[in-house]
Amino acid sequence: MFEEIDPFEKLALEAKFQKLSPGGAISYIECADMQNNIPAVIEVIKFIYDNIMYAELNTKSDYCQVCGYDGEIKIIDEGGKLIWECPKCKNRDKDKMNVARRTCGKP
Ligand SMILES: [Zn+2]
Repeated sequence: MFEEIDPFEKLALEAKFQKLSPGGAISYIECADMQNNIPAVIEVIKFIYDNIMYAELNTKSDYCQVCGYDGEIKIIDEGGKLIWECPKCKNRDKDKMNVARRTCGKP
């Protein structure tokens, strides 16, 4: 299910439900590559500290073995065929890249 919401609003909303789950609760923020926006990451961490017991930022950390790119390997749609491609060197060899994606709710 998708809902357009900013991370602060999401955390504030989910924080209200923590008391209903005495066994523990966790909130996730799925986000883009934040390497160039560290101040935003710090603001979210501060908000987590003040508002919620346990939350995580999930980001993409792929690696291209050809050029050493460390970030998000892109998916290119070529006529319905999905191809992984390094945005830096355009490497498409799946044996020469590390891509990790969460495909379910459990870590
Ligand atoms: Zn590359």
